[in-house]
Amino acid sequence: MTSAQQKLFGTQSFVEFTLDQKPMVVQSHVVLGNNVRVELWDNGVLYFHPQGDSLQNSLLLSVGVHGNETAPIEIIDQLVTDIFAGKIVVKHNLLIVIANPEAINAGSREVDENMNRLFSSNFTHQTDQSNERHRSQRLMELSQGFFNREAVKKIHYDLHTAIRGSVYTQFAISPNAIGMSEADYQYGLLGHWGIQAILSTQQKSPTYSSFTANTCGATSFTLELGQVKPFGENDLGEFSAVIEGLARSIVGDEDLSMINNPVKRFSVAGEVIKHSEHFRLCFPSDTVNFTEFDIGDVLATDKGYEYIVANGGERILFPNENVAIGQRALVIIRPEDNLTESIL
Ligand SMILES: [Zn+2]
Repeated sequence: MTSAQQKLFGTQSFVEFTLDQKPMVVQSHVVLGNNVRVELWDNGVLYFHPQGDSLQNSLLLSVGVHGNETAPIEIIDQLVTDIFAGKIVVKHNLLIVIANPEAINAGSREVDENMNRLFSSNFTHQTDQSNERHRSQRLMELSQGFFNREAVKKIHYDLHTAIRGSVYTQFAISPNAIGMSEADYQYGLLGHWGIQAILSTQQKSPTYSSFTANTCGATSFTLELGQVKPFGENDLGEFSAVIEGLARSIVGDEDLSMINNPVKRFSVAGEVIKHSEHFRLCFPSDTVNFTEFDIGDVLATDKGYEYIVANGGERILFPNENVAIGQRALVIIRPEDNLTESIL
């Protein structure tokens, strides 16, 4: 325990302190021995700023948008502890966000509603708004303020774990515009972190990464790092390549020289919306993400509606029959290299 950490969080780690949801402390900033200023902007929102004149990257790392996705929270706690201990020296502006402490404390995905559908400027303040609406509003303000500062690169990684298994254990969702050179660079970088597949989507959605990509000018990714497990049951060894990659991004020592891991690229072919209580998915509930279906397979039915696979290579992602009516119950994706593969 370093004295800088103690000044901010007493005897606790950043995550422990955040989950206790204490009133804001009097001393909400410290300067580390390596001249990095640390400011606690709000509960669970910690800003690191290396002092000096040179222009830096702005890197936002967020976890806990879904409260039961614990591995990323443990990863962040380790990184923050290593920063305070001087093992990781922050060379870029860094904002760490623990998004939904109330849901984490409740051990559930959400308290009132799915926070990753609430990062939209269209949601205005209401007096009776849910925990998640209140918090996402605040996080949008703080993220915007962070990315408004001039920076060489603006990057956001929003770390999750998924409810169901997946053909690709670790994958990323990229809401960035196609052809962005920084996004292309990041695809290569994420491959080195062990990310096996990247799904590009241009559909604007109210996720945290889509908000920072579309509103804050960041290159942003939702990273799905494995399956949901309770605190204490995660093997952080499974995430060692990601942890190392994140640490290298913080110290400004990104390494693209390692063996190239080819990343499978996918794009969204369509979304299936649940329109009525008659909505059903037509495959077993334990079907894993990225499972491929054949032309003619019926994937979903609703009142007067069927989704039938019409193109080769269609796979499913994030199926959930139990979403609210009007919400997305299934994403249909296709490999971007499908054409190339069929020619070969
Ligand atoms: Zn999640």
